[in-house]
Amino acid sequence: MIDPWSSAIIDYEKLVNQFGIKPFADLINDIADPNPLMKRKIIFGHRDFGKIIKAIRENKEFAVVSGMMPSGKMHIGHKMVVDQLIWYQNQGADIYIPIADMESYSARGVDFKTSKELAINEYITNYIALGLDLEKSNVHVYLQSKNKVIGDLAYILSKKVNFNEMRAIYGFSGSTNIAHLYVPMIQVADIIHPQLEECGGPKPTVVPVGPDQDPHIRLTRDIAERFKSQYNFITPSSTYHRFITGLTGEKMSSSKPKTAIFLSDSPGEAQKKLKSAKTGGRESLDVQRQKGGEPEKCVVYELLLYHLIESDRELEKIYRECKNGALMCGECKNRSANIIKKYFNKLSTKRDEAKEIAATILSED
Ligand code: SF4
Repeated sequence: MIDPWSSAIIDYEKLVNQFGIKPFADLINDIADPNPLMKRKIIFGHRDFGKIIKAIRENKEFAVVSGMMPSGKMHIGHKMVVDQLIWYQNQGADIYIPIADMESYSARGVDFKTSKELAINEYITNYIALGLDLEKSNVHVYLQSKNKVIGDLAYILSKKVNFNEMRAIYGFSGSTNIAHLYVPMIQVADIIHPQLEECGGPKPTVVPVGPDQDPHIRLTRDIAERFKSQYNFITPSSTYHRFITGLTGEKMSSSKPKTAIFLSDSPGEAQKKLKSAKTGGRESLDVQRQKGGEPEKCVVYELLLYHLIESDRELEKIYRECKNGALMCGECKNRSANIIKKYFNKLSTKRDEAKEIAATILSED
């Protein structure tokens, strides 16, 4: 059982084998212009992504749904989701961004006012600063708690889901509060509602998630099937990305500040944090020269791979030089720290510019 509300580290291979997630590598060659996260195998799995490739290729309408749960500060690992949304935006997708204030309330105890403020000042501001255009007419950002279409659909869909099923998927028990019990149905509605007539009718829909969210995806796909004859829903697709490792070697998490580089950190702080990150270096310089470093175990390398180096060739060079012992961690960290400092300098200017637009995005809610 996978618990979407815990932050346990996941065995990716097991997931692919046990839960029927398909390897993304099998279809990457069918994508004309893959996102770097796809090429670098950070997006490692999918369900039914062929439908999305087909829609892109045939220039047909499709939607991407990616919720944000405003329960803490955004860290650099969250940038991955925004990078994917930008890619989908460039492929012509309708974009739906539910702000999961109901989930935040039921699973984390965050009140609705705080959720809205966090969503605007932290998430929406960073999404814009990172390059997503939220002002386009086919981008829909909404608060779950204010969206009547979502509330109504969740209720209708709940008719064909029972408690035993929810217990089997999420491990709910007799003492689980009812808000928590019901909130997955809100997420199911988030994912399916772009296919309602009032949103343009049935269309391929993809949800890019971390593997911990797969229970929601499986439930949604099952429910979409159950209501097919009534609504003609197309079973939603999904992709799965790896989580970035935190600075200390465990999963990066907003609730554990020592593990995270926050997007709101100053350039100097980001630089300092990167320098403190766990590396794949050996116990001494001599051993490292002889045996080479271990970039596969290195948080600095992961930051470069996920976020900081665009050029595949440049990245490969670092990997090679690390492996053959030509590059030492001190030099590598210094270089990487300068890259992140520059990046955060730019980001902080962009965030200042983004604030004004961010304040308008939920103005009707
Ligand atoms: Fe990591 Fe760079 Fe050290 Fe290699 S040389 S282990 S990539 S810090």
